[in-house]
Amino acid sequence: MTDYRLLIDGQMVAGHSQFDVINPANEQVLATCPKADEAQLNAAVAAATRAFPAWAARSQDERGALVDEIADRLLARAEEFAHLLTAEQGKPLDQARSEVMGTVFTLKAFAGMRIADKVLRDEDTHFVFEHRTPLGVCAAITPWNFPMVLLANKLGPCLVAGNTMVAKPAPTTPLTTLLLGEILAQVLPAGVVNIIADQNDLGGLLSAHPDVAKVAFTGSTATGRKVMASAAGTVKRVTLELGGNDAAIVMDDMPPALAARKVFAGAMTNAGQICVAIKRAYVHEAIYDDFVSEIVALAQAAVVDDGARQGVTIGPVQNRMQFDKVMELIESARDDGRILTGGAPLDRPGYFIPPTIVAGLHDDAPLVREEQFGPVLPVLKFSDIDDVIARANASDYGLGGTVWGRDVERATAVARRINTGTVWVNQHLAIDPRIPFRGVKQSGLGAELGEAGLLEYTQAHIVNGVELAGE
Ligand code: NAD
Repeated sequence: MTDYRLLIDGQMVAGHSQFDVINPANEQVLATCPKADEAQLNAAVAAATRAFPAWAARSQDERGALVDEIADRLLARAEEFAHLLTAEQGKPLDQARSEVMGTVFTLKAFAGMRIADKVLRDEDTHFVFEHRTPLGVCAAITPWNFPMVLLANKLGPCLVAGNTMVAKPAPTTPLTTLLLGEILAQVLPAGVVNIIADQNDLGGLLSAHPDVAKVAFTGSTATGRKVMASAAGTVKRVTLELGGNDAAIVMDDMPPALAARKVFAGAMTNAGQICVAIKRAYVHEAIYDDFVSEIVALAQAAVVDDGARQGVTIGPVQNRMQFDKVMELIESARDDGRILTGGAPLDRPGYFIPPTIVAGLHDDAPLVREEQFGPVLPVLKFSDIDDVIARANASDYGLGGTVWGRDVERATAVARRINTGTVWVNQHLAIDPRIPFRGVKQSGLGAELGEAGLLEYTQAHIVNGVELAGE
């Protein structure tokens, strides 16, 4: 078994204790993970604090070059990371490869971004410009569905903007982050990035720590609220990327087979464990029956198995707690709705739930209202555009959404009225590090990615002066 280590002050160190990481495809122990205690958390924050002035003093070009080197070294070890990602997270190997490549691409995109001063006034003798300074130590707290790329979304802008970091992965998927620690230790000065691992006990301490200037958090809305509350003590900056309940609206001019293919992929990739997965599909009544029979056929053709096996399209749910939650939502749908396919876990070790399609639910059913975050999709019918837009918007979440239709202008007009951070038209999951991503309502606060995501790791600083003429 590999000896995984924390990264504190440039050293790969053992934890104060250890815990087991389970492979969700067989429920066997995959590795032993070092667990940090509060003293190690404090040591990590202290190391990041000490490293900050020298790191912030380097030029953006120098910092960008080192982030680029991290990406190159990750690329050189892409297969190793992809296999480990499948083993700890469960996703099919081709999806793990895509996540590793997305991580490389994201780091490279940020490595190439620069922050320039913004001239606000330049008149005669009066000059005003906005200068951007780094914040200090940033905490990155990540979830278990995309442990690598969601860290890269934070690591890239944090470092390029001149901050240092303490990163904390989710307890069920810490290994790829710890392995990345090896590369970070090779490339970066000591203390610039520190990685600690926990069992859901250090996130609160990290977000309340007085020497942490900002918390970049991705995870559930429930935990996001706690992060916001614990950050309040020292008025920390927070970026919160939280849950979603994305609606897909399938218009009447959409070919049903094509729509079913797109919606199925949007709902079931990564076994549905994507913040912007399609979590409820509203299909126009004119094509509803054809759509349903097509999507049921796709669900029945899916290959559900250990993601490490070739040809597998859907891996296990990532952990026991999530498996239980998804099964509970499926059970809640049995009375009011019709489970058209799936609905029962595979009778074998591993957290396998075959893709499950449910029809006939009301909008207030738990499976429609709540975030399922698993391979189950409620399919609902609509006849009126205004009505379906109101139904899509009737949610405390506001993360993403999709509109599907041949008439792209009509579909885009609908997209404009969906109250979420992102709406895709005739495509899904088109996440690009150059395009900002954010949630509205209880799906989040602040942006990740793009220039907006980079600026979140800076403080706007106004310099306002006049030239003295002979006074
Ligand atoms: P989670 O909220 O349970 O955990 C996320 C992280 O928070 C973990 O590292 C966990 O250890 C840590 N944590 C736990 N308690 C904490 C506390 N009190 N203070 C600070 N940190 C604490 O989320 P999860 O179950 O790992 O991930 C799934 C959720 O993440 C879903 O709701 C999904 O929609 C959301 N998500 C959102 C995005 C986005 O970009 N908006 C992306 C991916 C996932």
